[in-house]
Amino acid sequence: GHEISAGAIKLEQLSFGYDPQRPVLRELNLDFAAGSFVGIVGHTGSGKSTLLSLLLRFYEAQSGQITIDGRPLATLPDEAFRAAVGLVPQEPYLMAASARENITMGRRITEDALIAAAKAARIHEFLSGLPQGFDTVLGEGGARVSTGQKQLIAMARALAGAPRILFLDEATSNIDSATERIVSDALLALRGRVTVVAIAHRLSTIREADQIIVLNHGHLVERGTHSEL
Ligand code: ATP
Ligand code: MG
Repeated sequence: GHEISAGAIKLEQLSFGYDPQRPVLRELNLDFAAGSFVGIVGHTGSGKSTLLSLLLRFYEAQSGQITIDGRPLATLPDEAFRAAVGLVPQEPYLMAASARENITMGRRITEDALIAAAKAARIHEFLSGLPQGFDTVLGEGGARVSTGQKQLIAMARALAGAPRILFLDEATSNIDSATERIVSDALLALRGRVTVVAIAHRLSTIREADQIIVLNHGHLVERGTHSEL
C-alpha cells in the first residue's frame, strides 16, 4: 500500500546541529497540513536548507521527531519515501540530454504524464517552442536555459513522479520577477493535492501561502499568513 497517502508533516521538539554542540535548529514544533502551502523565510544561515535536509532524510535530528501522516520519518521505506517526495533544489542539475530525458530521468513516464508535469511546472510552452521541442538537448552544449527555467524543469521532473509532498529551495540569484511569479503560480496551483514546503528569498513567492514560517538562528520566530506577519 501507499505509506504516505495524505502528506501531513509534523515536527516535534526538533533539534539538530551538524556539530551536536552547536545546534542549527532549536526545538522546532511545526505542523504542515496535507495539501497546504508552507513558506519558509529567514536570513542567510538561519537553518532553512538544514530543515529541508532533515525533511529529506539527508541528516537525522539529535532530538525530537518528524512524522509524515503520523509515521516517524525514519520508519518509512525508502521506496515509499522516494515515490512520495519531490525536490526542486536551489541549483538544479541538468544533464546533457533532451528536455524529455531531463524530466523523465529514466523513469517510466507516459507522454500524457510528461506533458501534464511540464504544464503544471509552467515550462511546457518554453520546451515545446525549442527547435526540436521536448527532444531538444539541454545542459552542456545544449539549448540555453536560465536559472529560473532550470528550476521549472526541475519542478516538472519532480511533478512527473506524482509526489504527495514537494520541497522547493528557491534559487537565490538570476531569477527575474516574471519567472519568480511563474514559480509561485505553479506552487499555488498544487494546493489541496500536494503539500508544498517552499524556502523563499522573496516574500512575494509565498504571499499566498497558508502558513509562513520565519526562522532566525534555528528558532521559529514567527508563524502566520502573509497578512498576519
Ligand atoms: P541561505 O539563505 O544562505 O541558504 P540557510 O537558512 O539555508 O541559508 P543553512 O544552510 O541551513 O542556512 O545553514 C544553517 C547553519 O548551518 C549555518 O551556520 C551554516 O554555516 C551551517 N551549515 C550548513 N550546512 C552545513 C554542513 N553541511 N556542515 C556544517 N555546517 C553547515
Ligand atoms: Mg539555504
